[in-house]
Amino acid sequence: MSRERITIGGCPKCGSDLLTCQQNHFQNDELEIYSWEHKCPDCGFRQTEAFRSDDEDEPFDPVAAQTCPFCGRTAKRTP
Ligand SMILES: [Zn+2]
Ligand SMILES: [Zn+2]
Repeated sequence: MSRERITIGGCPKCGSDLLTCQQNHFQNDELEIYSWEHKCPDCGFRQTEAFRSDDEDEPFDPVAAQTCPFCGRTAKRTP
């Protein structure tokens, strides 16, 4: 499990500079999950999105999964 969090600021709700963008990556033999979270410590704003390799509704796209759906940054792939 890897985790990377950066402060991006520009909260859509209150404009705070402290808005963070966090990416979690989980992988075992069959399952790979990327999840993204934007969170504001000032007003509590939060949005999340997860990409799972076992999602039957949506085919898993590793390239899309490594890009934040909210701010568009690309995750650093851990070796
Ligand atoms: Zn906020
Ligand atoms: Zn983001």
